[in-house]
Amino acid sequence: MRKIVYLCLSLVLATSGINAQDQAKEKEAPKTGHTNTNKFKQLYDEFSTPNMYRAASGAPGAAYYQQQADYKMDIVLDDKLAKITGAETITYTNNSPDNLKYLWVQLDQNQRAKDSKSPLIESTGLDPVFQPSKFSETYLVYGKDRGFHILEITQTNGDALKYMINRTMMRVELPKVLKSGEKFSFAIKWWYNINNHVDEGGRSGYEYFPENGNRSYVIAQFYPRMAVYSDVEGWQNSQFWGRDEFALPFGDYEVNITVPADHILDGTGVLTNRKDVYTKDMMKRYEDAKKSFTTPVIIATQAEAEVREKSFSEDTKTWKLKAENVRDFGFATSRKYILDMMAVKIGGKDVMAVSMYSKEGNPLWEQWSTKAVASTLESYSRMTFDYPYHKAISVHAKRQGMEYPMICWNYGRPDKDGTYSDRVKYGMMGVIIHEVGHNFFPMIVNSDERQWTWMDEGLNTFVQYVAEQDFGEKYPAALSPEHKAFPSDRGPAKMIIPYMSGNQDHIAPIMTKGLNTYQFGNNAYGKPATALNILRETVMGRDLFDYAFKEYANRWKFKHPTPEDFFRTMEDASAFDLDWYWRGWFYTTDWVDIGIKEVKKFYVSSEPNAYVRKMAKEQGFKLENLRPLVYMVEEGSEDYKEELSQGSLLENSTPLKEYIMDNFTPEERKNLKNPKYFYNVTFNKPGGLVMPIIVEYTYADGSTKTETYPAQIWRLNDKEVSKAIASDKEIIGIKLDPNEETADVDTSNNIWPAQEQKSEFDQFKESN
Ligand SMILES: [Zn+2]
Repeated sequence: MRKIVYLCLSLVLATSGINAQDQAKEKEAPKTGHTNTNKFKQLYDEFSTPNMYRAASGAPGAAYYQQQADYKMDIVLDDKLAKITGAETITYTNNSPDNLKYLWVQLDQNQRAKDSKSPLIESTGLDPVFQPSKFSETYLVYGKDRGFHILEITQTNGDALKYMINRTMMRVELPKVLKSGEKFSFAIKWWYNINNHVDEGGRSGYEYFPENGNRSYVIAQFYPRMAVYSDVEGWQNSQFWGRDEFALPFGDYEVNITVPADHILDGTGVLTNRKDVYTKDMMKRYEDAKKSFTTPVIIATQAEAEVREKSFSEDTKTWKLKAENVRDFGFATSRKYILDMMAVKIGGKDVMAVSMYSKEGNPLWEQWSTKAVASTLESYSRMTFDYPYHKAISVHAKRQGMEYPMICWNYGRPDKDGTYSDRVKYGMMGVIIHEVGHNFFPMIVNSDERQWTWMDEGLNTFVQYVAEQDFGEKYPAALSPEHKAFPSDRGPAKMIIPYMSGNQDHIAPIMTKGLNTYQFGNNAYGKPATALNILRETVMGRDLFDYAFKEYANRWKFKHPTPEDFFRTMEDASAFDLDWYWRGWFYTTDWVDIGIKEVKKFYVSSEPNAYVRKMAKEQGFKLENLRPLVYMVEEGSEDYKEELSQGSLLENSTPLKEYIMDNFTPEERKNLKNPKYFYNVTFNKPGGLVMPIIVEYTYADGSTKTETYPAQIWRLNDKEVSKAIASDKEIIGIKLDPNEETADVDTSNNIWPAQEQKSEFDQFKESN
């Protein structure tokens, strides 16, 4: 008989960890099998297999290679005709183990060719109202000629090379197979009509100033550029439709740009003939700027620019720029430009922070642009690696926000009277920080923008948030009186809630090619930036995250990383299993919603409770034969009422200390806890994402305690989980995610006891 009792008892105790609901579920379990849909399933199917080129750690592999494309270019900008002409020689080095029969060259400007197919893939109905410029662009002009005119493609000996143009991609046939380790040089001559980027759109082009006929040019993807050939894609020759940006190999550039003599120009690379193109005054001020670390020095003044604006020189000047190990080249030129510079120390080296803007940008630009550039270089260098180039330029261009190595275009224009709203001011500061930040991602950590928009925009927007907060702290005068910190609009968790809780028909996973996503900004910028911010602040903690993020940046600077290289490195450097996080946030459109389902309160008793009495009856053992057990009695239950009337509830667990076994040290015995209140708290998860449960418990004495249950608490039950809590103080309130750090889309279920939804009638009564 006793034997049977012990058997039953072990049964009772063995099942005690499983709550009644789970038992019920097991009874109604389906009779068919299923595939592994666990949210913590390892990312094996989604990831490519590591190999000699890309290691399982997320680092470049032992056989990692990348191609090199070096350019020598002579460029002439005709300001009267708004036309650009170029002669370039590309030297291509095949570092791959493969033999190449042809080369692919990108002709991005053909996206604006007469016969461009880009407008044809847009599903656009008729708008109810138009800007006149948009109307004329759309309905009045038939096929504007803005594409490349390729004049000739030749070998260095002058022999013509065969080529074929497929829209924005050009295949150049090699005279003989280019073997692994070999170089090939060839020359291209071309021209095109420059687009007005304000009216016609585009990341490159000119703004026209009708009051005096001047133009400001911001010129990029203006020359035939080598496509990337890699171990992952082979030739990355996916067409340019206008949205997904660029994939480019690194190389060295020597570029001579001939423009009207009264223009001020700057671009990617070291200006090698500064004395030929700067005036004596400009040279002197430039020397001063190199020693000024707190205030920008104006090198070309507004007064000088206003004189130049009227000159329309017939002469030309050639600006010579030389850049090493860059993935692209851009420049800006105008007779309207004001120029200022300031030095900033980065890792013991002096870097020049530079701004170029027309008078239309002032007074905002002379005040804040260059300081924002310098501060950005400091913040990003801290989060990644020391900025390796000698300068970073911010150019003012209407409605632009676009990045190239060492130079970027930024919007933010005051009204004509020089006043500006907070929106214009913070927009201008934010876009400068963002675009200067792009020097790191993707100009140096050179991910494939054509394929993975989030890898540069998402990572960059994440660091932008950190850099904006730094900027606000460093320059409180940049903030409006009502702001204590920079009002970043991307990064903080709660800002992404409207997007993630929105209509699922218009949301795509982050791991989607940019061209195929809805709500581009939220998908490729906002959500990945927020995901990384939550990972840093809430899931991993700053120390682990920052180390791993820095490791990724350093492993892949001046190389071509893929998403897996990022995901793997973040785990490799932190010992944090993040497959569930990447899977949920990057591969699905699930959202966060965790709630408190119910809270039950218990007391301890030494009298058998209903659960054991029922078991004794079913299994035929006698209660008096049971060895002493600790029974939990739920407040309000029949047992509770009965024991309350009999006085058999134990005041607290003190009388139970006699059961302390011999596996406690004397020290542990001395410090025994004395819990009086016992709770069973059940959390449910209406949202699909698994996330840590952050719980703030409030006690009767007013004190609080925050406990974080790691996301893995959801690994065996994705719908609801329970936690038993023993406390010497009564819990009077429970709040989930008290600091709004998880992007929980519905906070109405985050509080216990539930806040009573007051009826309109109650509210009416209260207010009267
Ligand atoms: Zn960007």
